[in-house]
Amino acid sequence: MQICRSVEACRSAVRALKCEKGHVAFVPTMGALHEGHMALIEKAREVGDSVVASLFINPTQFGQASDFETYPRDEERDLAMFEAAGVDAVLIPDVSEIYPEGNETIVETTRLANMLHGIVRPGHFRGVTTVVARLFNIVQPDFAVFGEKDYQQLQVIRRMVRDLHFPVEIIGVPTRRAPDGLALSSRNTRLSSEGRKAATVLSRALDAATERAKSGQSIAQIRSAIETVIAGEPLAELGGLDIVEAQTLEPLGAQFDRPTAIMLSVEIDGVLLIDQRELYP
Ligand code: AMP
Repeated sequence: MQICRSVEACRSAVRALKCEKGHVAFVPTMGALHEGHMALIEKAREVGDSVVASLFINPTQFGQASDFETYPRDEERDLAMFEAAGVDAVLIPDVSEIYPEGNETIVETTRLANMLHGIVRPGHFRGVTTVVARLFNIVQPDFAVFGEKDYQQLQVIRRMVRDLHFPVEIIGVPTRRAPDGLALSSRNTRLSSEGRKAATVLSRALDAATERAKSGQSIAQIRSAIETVIAGEPLAELGGLDIVEAQTLEPLGAQFDRPTAIMLSVEIDGVLLIDQRELYP
């Protein structure tokens, strides 16, 4: 596995991979790797002839400098996990490599970035698109793989790629879960053992919503099924619940009659957990 710390080293590794193997699939991450990230790498290996990953904690997507500073870092462990998963090359740049002195260019999906989670975390999605655009221009992959768990992020990236004509095919990967249904996340380790048990409430609530949708119930009934399950878990506090049109993330009418995305966030033990579900009529 090649470790590339500069734009130039990455470009030359990718040139060689394209020449020797063919199509490159790219998996951007911020490290603190877990099995969810490995699901993305498996998908990348399936669609591409070689896999390039990146490990870059992007300062511009954090609202508070302290969150950026305390983000878990374990480069050695992350690199070993990439290597074991069969990654061909890893881009692991310093902040100054991605954001050189005097840089001033941003990329923003002006509507999608400033709704839903984008209201609670102003500037977050602008930071995501700004870094992903830069990473795409460095790696120049044929495919790029993202988790459906970060549902709004996936839609924002799809829109950026479409609008700016990036020659990259975006692939979404279903959320990888623990056997009891909890979506894997580096945040799960911050839960107490009681909190960890309570955390299944997110997938239970989404299952209840799916049942209601299958039986043709309205959006209000789907919403109330979720709220009831969350209210039944004493350790859980509902953070956000958005039931929206799947691609545009715009509000829906009363009926469940089109592709719908549910974005759920719940706080347990002071840890904000997210999960998502797509429903098709
Ligand atoms: P992060 O390192 O948190 O920026 O996440 C990197 C990528 O991993 C993003 O595309 C996430 O959506 C994806 N991801 C995180 N958790 C999971 C999971 N449990 N299953 C699948 N993909 C995930």
